Amino acid sequence: MEMNDIQLTVLGCWAPYPRQEEACSGYLLQNGATSLMLEAGHGSFARLIKHVDYRQLAGLVITHYHPDHYADIHCLRHAIEGARRDGRMKNTIKLFIPPEPAEIYRELAGFTKSFSVFNIEKLPTGDFNSVLARTAQLNELTLYFIPIVHVLPGYAVLIRQGKQSLFFSSDTAPTPEITRAANNVDLLLCEASGLNKDADKLAGIHMTARQAGELAKQARANRLVLTHFWPEYNVDELLAEAEDSFGSAVLAAGQDTIFNLP
Ligand SMILES: [Zn+2]
Ligand SMILES: [Zn+2]
Repeated sequence: MEMNDIQLTVLGCWAPYPRQEEACSGYLLQNGATSLMLEAGHGSFARLIKHVDYRQLAGLVITHYHPDHYADIHCLRHAIEGARRDGRMKNTIKLFIPPEPAEIYRELAGFTKSFSVFNIEKLPTGDFNSVLARTAQLNELTLYFIPIVHVLPGYAVLIRQGKQSLFFSSDTAPTPEITRAANNVDLLLCEASGLNKDADKLAGIHMTARQAGELAKQARANRLVLTHFWPEYNVDELLAEAEDSFGSAVLAAGQDTIFNLP
């Protein structure tokens, strides 16, 4: 079977609140046959259904339980539950979520009328570029979950299909494991939560645009796409700082922007 190239559509790129008419973290990955929603921040469901019928989703990945990454899971849950109740949909959708904080995990794991729930920490382990990761298969897509260093426990995600690869940083301070896991990726979708002048405030929790560029350079990423922007920043300034450390052109995620791999 001929596989199609992976396409990334940005549903939202703001954090921790969106700009007018836009959305927080949300991404749609498609390869022609499979549609995967990656993060479901505020407003992302309304953007999702502009691009795909939610009933066609194969899965949803939530990397950690900050609202700008998962608040709209409640929209998707109700939409699916309603569609299944009145016969417009038969199946549930695979939901990959972290186990901590346990209180939130328990609530989401209870949405069994809409989702088949997978605790990421209980997925099989696999070794990729000498990084121990949790792994899952979603049709043709292989998912690798790599622990982040952030306020909450969670995961960065590497997605591979044949020779194509996309790495999503989630929210994290730079770590050697993340650099190794992102090695040679076609597309590095990386948070850029601040300018260099704000580095002290973000230390140990997030990456600045400059650090995103450093990560892309160390990992020899083919393309760097910045995301997770504080709405008050000028995105061009973030891009300039990332380009300086990456040493090559950097792109910005934007509402409804589409990136095609490889
Ligand atoms: Zn965030
Ligand atoms: Zn976060």
